[in-house]
Amino acid sequence: MKPLDFDNRFVRELPADPEPASHVRQVHGACYSRVMPTPVSAPKLLAWSPEVAALLDLDEADVRAPEFAEIFAGNALMPGMEPYAACYGGHQFGNWAGQLGDGRAITLGEVLNHRGERWELQLKGAGPTPYSRRADGRAVLRSSIREFLCSEAMHHLGVPTTRALCLVATGEEVIRDMFYDGHPRAEPGAVVCRVAPSFIRFGNFEIFTSRGDVALLERLIDFTIGRDFPELAGSGETRRGDWFREVCERTARTVAHWMRVGFVHGVMNTDNMSILGLTIDYGPYGWIDDFDPGWTPNTTDAGGRRYRFGNQPRIAHWNLLQLANALAPAFPGVEPLQEGLNRYVEAYEAESLGMHRAKLGLASGREEDAALIDALHGLLAAAEVDMTIFYRRLAGIDVDAPSLEPLREAFYDAEKAAPHEAALGEWLGVYAARLREEGIPAVERRARMDAVNPCYVLRNYLAQEAIDAAEAGDPGLIHEILDVMRRPYTEQAGRERFAAKRPDWARHRAGCSMLSCSS
Ligand code: AMP
Ligand code: MG
Repeated sequence: MKPLDFDNRFVRELPADPEPASHVRQVHGACYSRVMPTPVSAPKLLAWSPEVAALLDLDEADVRAPEFAEIFAGNALMPGMEPYAACYGGHQFGNWAGQLGDGRAITLGEVLNHRGERWELQLKGAGPTPYSRRADGRAVLRSSIREFLCSEAMHHLGVPTTRALCLVATGEEVIRDMFYDGHPRAEPGAVVCRVAPSFIRFGNFEIFTSRGDVALLERLIDFTIGRDFPELAGSGETRRGDWFREVCERTARTVAHWMRVGFVHGVMNTDNMSILGLTIDYGPYGWIDDFDPGWTPNTTDAGGRRYRFGNQPRIAHWNLLQLANALAPAFPGVEPLQEGLNRYVEAYEAESLGMHRAKLGLASGREEDAALIDALHGLLAAAEVDMTIFYRRLAGIDVDAPSLEPLREAFYDAEKAAPHEAALGEWLGVYAARLREEGIPAVERRARMDAVNPCYVLRNYLAQEAIDAAEAGDPGLIHEILDVMRRPYTEQAGRERFAAKRPDWARHRAGCSMLSCSS
């Protein structure tokens, strides 16, 4: 395997925890603790992403080299790697939770590729760190498959996200009580290598403010701007304000994309919010089948449904407010922070409206569009309509003779849809009239709509099928789903089943509609 060019600025420029041991503790006055991955008995490469390998200037021969699985299971280091776990805190489910930190994530280093891009490599599930609290630092195969596949699917859908280089089985078992109900069982373990320009979270800033450590807060802010927002580095006085505004805009764009593709993160705690505005920490996430703004995949969130699909834009704002509070001691006044938060609201509205107009194939913007979109959302929810199939089919309607027929494929239950058919038909009439006025040729409109309305998303039950097969010893479906998701906007012959709506058996099955944080 060829060597990589490491340039580990995080460990070089920020203060380390002086304590070298990995026992669990509160870490003060430091951004990270040095910690080695814990070796595993039998690493086996299960899957890898060719696009992410290419970002690192690696090719198939590198990935197939025997040392690859050893390195990315945590059994060996490459020259230049300097492993560490980051210290951060966070608000979980609306409450300050104190120090959290990388409890099972270990960064290996920052790679510079031949284009000069910086890519941080981070193992998830590589063993205990000082931040593991009462847990084991490991990850199970099922959650690792879900993170690996979804990171890549999201990227190909055009949603800002952390990436995944590879998925390695550890050959060891991990004990998990999936629904925290007294039924622990041994499950196969795995390690995912995640890749992103930075894994810094809102919580990395919050922890220092919570401890009154303003000096370290300021150091981390300046480091983050300098390394991860170089385009802002020269803006002097207003630099920190410009940065916060940029974080707000990026967060708005990412959440608007989630709403566009039907993604529900499931655990939008502030420790799971990327300062780069990337989708990060794939846990009990889920995909919308029937359009339901009230749906949350996360059983831990079933009570308050704080992280339900339709609430994500509001939660992102709340999380940015927590970040603003944490950053306040580093700002002379609150105005730039207030402006950033306002900018989030504007940016989200603009992004969301733009994306939904594109989903409907509208070439122009009109005052009444927001009402048209809201009305559709209400109908999709009431009639239990599959979001992905509906938009894909909508691109094919005949604007001169609009009919519900081609859209019926998206209905889950004809009886439930029946009382809403008249209203849906009326909506379709208004929509078709609007399209006629715009006069875009049908072929062109279809191409535009198909470019933003995916044919394939990582439906919850598909990921579960890949998990079931992999747990039984066959990783083939992971490879096939990864390949399908590489071209999510293009119909792929012979792969119709991956675009089908959720089968009945998956409606209430664990892993398909119900997920927990246990992973
Ligand atoms: P999450 O809800 O997955 O974002 O995790 C919240 C915190 O718990 C983070 O600090 C994680 O690193 C930590 N954590 C989750 N699972 C484990 C585990 N198996 N071992 C150690 N720490 C964990
Ligand atoms: Mg997390």
